[in-house]
Amino acid sequence: MALPDKATILAVLKNIAGPDGTANIVEQGLIGADDITLSNAKAIITVKVPAEQAQALEPMRLAVEKAVSAIDGIASALAILTAERQPGTGSPANGAGSPASSLSSPTPAAVAPAGPDAGIGDVKSVIAVASGKGGVGKSTTAVNLALALQADGLAVGILDADIYGPSMPRLLNIHGRPKPVAGRTLKPLEGYGLKVMSMGFLVDEDTPMIWRGPMVISALTQMLNEVQWGPLDVLVVDMPPGTGDAQLTMAQKVPLAGAVIVSTPQDLALIDARKGLNMFKRTEVPVLGIVENMSAFVCPKCGERTDIFGHGGARDEAARIGVPFLGGIPLDIEIREKSDAGTPIVIAAPDSAIADIYQEIAAKISQALGQESQAAGRQPPKIVIE
Ligand code: ADP
Repeated sequence: MALPDKATILAVLKNIAGPDGTANIVEQGLIGADDITLSNAKAIITVKVPAEQAQALEPMRLAVEKAVSAIDGIASALAILTAERQPGTGSPANGAGSPASSLSSPTPAAVAPAGPDAGIGDVKSVIAVASGKGGVGKSTTAVNLALALQADGLAVGILDADIYGPSMPRLLNIHGRPKPVAGRTLKPLEGYGLKVMSMGFLVDEDTPMIWRGPMVISALTQMLNEVQWGPLDVLVVDMPPGTGDAQLTMAQKVPLAGAVIVSTPQDLALIDARKGLNMFKRTEVPVLGIVENMSAFVCPKCGERTDIFGHGGARDEAARIGVPFLGGIPLDIEIREKSDAGTPIVIAAPDSAIADIYQEIAAKISQALGQESQAAGRQPPKIVIE
C-alpha cells in the first residue's frame, strides 16, 4: 500500500481541535509538514506546545496518534510533544526550547496517569554509558556491561537512548513492540533477562531520522518515565554519542548515579572523550571511569596482541585527569561477530577472557555505585556553567 503524503496527514489532523478550541491544531501552527516524519508506514509527529500546557494536552497527543494511525497506509504513529514555544506565548522560542514530554514535568500532581509502577522510581541506580563520538563501541560496551552486572546477580535494565542509531534490537536480537500495560505505560521488552527499551522498537533501525534537540529529550524522558522499569538495581542508559546540547540536557534531566565513558585509544577519540568527561563534570554527575575499547588487536589465528593504536592512552589520560581507569577491551573479531549475531559475548562466551574483562569492569562499577549510594535518590543535578 502506498505511503500517504504529508498533505493527507495534515488534512486529517485538521479535524483535531487546538488547545484554545477555536481553530484546529494545524491552523494554530502546532503541527506543520516539517513536523511529520514518514518512513516505512510509520509516522512520527512532533507537536509544538507551550511547555506549561504539556500535561493538559496529553489527550490531544493521543488524538493525534489515533487519527494518524487510522490513515490508510500508516502502520503506526507516535506523537511527541515538544515545547518549542515559550510558555504563555504563541511564538516560537529562541534556541532549542525545553522538553514538554507529557511526564517530564516537575509537578507530578498535574501529570496524567501513566499507569502503575511507571518510571524509574524503583530503579536504584541509573548509569550512563557515553562517548565523545560515535563508532567507538559505546553500545557494545553498554550491553556487555549490563549483562555482566546481571551475571553478578543484579536486576538490570538497558535504555537505548542512542536514538540516532538505536542498536539494542540488533545487539540483543529483540523484535517486536513494547505493549502498553496500563494508561500510557509500556512494558519493556526482555533480552537475556535484561529489561530493554529502545526507540528502535518504535521505528526501524535503518530509518534515517532527524532529531531536533527537544524531540530527543522528549523521547528520552518518555522512555524513562512511561516504561514499567522497576524494580531494578541498575538501569544502564546507552547515551547518544557526542556532547551536544541534547546530551547535556539529558545528563542534567536524568538522575544519574554515574557515567562511564567509552573511548578508543586514538588521541582524537581521547580528545572527544575529554569533552564527554567535561559534560558530566558540568552536570555534577560522578564519572565512574573510562573504558578503553579496541585497546589492542588480538590475532584470532596466533593470539598475538598488537597495539595498533598505541597502548595505554586511555589509562594515562584517566590518571592525568584523576578518573578511574576501568579496563581495556581488545579489538576482537568475536566481539563484533557475536554482536552482529544478537548474542553479546558475555552471553555467547561467558567463560572467555573477554567476558572476564567485562565482568571485572562491571565489578568496579558495582563497587563505585555502592560508594555513590549516598548520592542515590538525589535530585537531577544542576548544570554549572563554568
Ligand atoms: P557506538 O555505539 O560507539 O556507535 P558500536 O557499539 O555500535 O559503537 O560499535 C561499532 C562497531 O564496532 C560494531 O560493529 C561493533 O560490533 C564493533 N565493535 C565494538 N567494540 C568492538 C571490539 N572491542 N572489538 C571488535 N569490534 C568491536
